[in-house]
Amino acid sequence: MSSGSAIRGSRIGSSPMRPDERSEPAPRREVIYHCSTGHTSRILFAAEASAPETWDCPRCGQPAGLDGQNPPGRLRSEPYKSHLAYVKERRSDEDAAKILEEALAKVRQRRGE
Ligand SMILES: [Zn+2]
Repeated sequence: MSSGSAIRGSRIGSSPMRPDERSEPAPRREVIYHCSTGHTSRILFAAEASAPETWDCPRCGQPAGLDGQNPPGRLRSEPYKSHLAYVKERRSDEDAAKILEEALAKVRQRRGE
């Protein structure tokens, strides 16, 4: 049975994929985020990267969190909306646009990190 072991040995040597690499999971992982609207978004991250605590919901743009029972948007959206409505009554649309722009800039800055 010396020929059998010779074939087995050559197969392992010629294969580009080692058995231990095969059993490892794909180098990406899926993280599920929940937004206050009730969307669940599956975001893929590189396995070695740490997932951020919040992620903007791809469907509605609200901040989404890892905890489905307590999405971050729910805490902020209600007082924020009423505050913005209050601000709009007193300020011009130009100021509102500026506030929105600042908020978007913060989001972009966070994504860049
Ligand atoms: Zn959403």
